[in-house]
Amino acid sequence: MNLLQEIKKSRPFVIAGPCSAETEEQVHSVLKDIAQDGKTAMLRAGIWKPRTRPNSFEGLGELALPWLVAAGKENNLPVTTEVANAKHVETALKYSVDVLWIGARTTVNPFAIQEIADALKGVDIPVIVKNPVNPDLMLWVGAFERLQQAGITQLAALHRGFSIYKHPKYRNIPNWEIPIALREELPDIPLLCDPSHIAGKREGLLEISQKAMDLNYDGLMIETHPNPDAAWSDPAQQVTAKGLNDLLNNIKLRKEELSEEELSFIVVMREKIAGLDDRIFSLLADRMKMAEEVGVYKRENDITILQQEHWRKVIATRMDQADNLHLTSQFVRSIMDAIHQESIRHQTKVMNPGLKG
Ligand code: PEP
Ligand code: MN
Repeated sequence: MNLLQEIKKSRPFVIAGPCSAETEEQVHSVLKDIAQDGKTAMLRAGIWKPRTRPNSFEGLGELALPWLVAAGKENNLPVTTEVANAKHVETALKYSVDVLWIGARTTVNPFAIQEIADALKGVDIPVIVKNPVNPDLMLWVGAFERLQQAGITQLAALHRGFSIYKHPKYRNIPNWEIPIALREELPDIPLLCDPSHIAGKREGLLEISQKAMDLNYDGLMIETHPNPDAAWSDPAQQVTAKGLNDLLNNIKLRKEELSEEELSFIVVMREKIAGLDDRIFSLLADRMKMAEEVGVYKRENDITILQQEHWRKVIATRMDQADNLHLTSQFVRSIMDAIHQESIRHQTKVMNPGLKG
């Protein structure tokens, strides 16, 4: 199959199937139900499961591979499974799995990615690469580069969020800016979203899927199980085939192409926004000039750049305003931190003219 062409054909390109293959009957029944709705383009099942703690269910391994492959054939859909080392690759190729995916705990490790890339030399099978567990764009980019160097031409990215300690809403925090930056770096690689692992619970799937489609993602991977609450792995986030169908029916697909009229409205608004950006940056430049004047004064009077107590008050004042301005406190905090860093850089320059920094 040509993954890139298939992804272009259907938006969203949906991959669905259980977190783990558990029994032959489970794999066959859920993949058949999924395929019957006609909305899913590829079937998934985890065969080797990377689990955080030992003694969790770690997948059935090779035993379950023929079940997945047979279900693909019966339903006339390509199948995909996760590989994490050269042995997995060799076994998946032996059973003619159509597409491989690399999990988040593997993308994080360049040695493991290189091992997989080496095992794939000379086999141009499509590979889907999940983001690394930590929010490091270049590790993700590096994985694509290693696979490209091994001759893999059909690659897709799968955004599953980033590890976080006890978040009230997400199992893995999305950090949408990272996949957006990936698309800037690698514009030809299709981008898919895995709302199941971002949300960690089925109630969160619609919101995340909708957002992904509004950000022009090409597709979705949704964990689907015949009896989610009894699943051997990830029970809270899986949906039934009926749940998958409802979810896909509820996603609004908005267009990227604009009519003349829509375009003219948006062009005017974009110009107004660009005007605001001009003002913001010219104010920032003025602010930095003022910081330099303060720097000259501090230099002449031997005063340190940072007055911790003053800075604490500056931050507190702005944070108090965040709500009234309808801005999130994280946004206000990161803007203020960026301004402060730049201001320190300007003051350092005037206070220590001889030092490079
Ligand atoms: C999975 O898709 O079942 C999986 C293990 O995902 P991740 O690598 O995103 O944790
Ligand atoms: Mn899972």
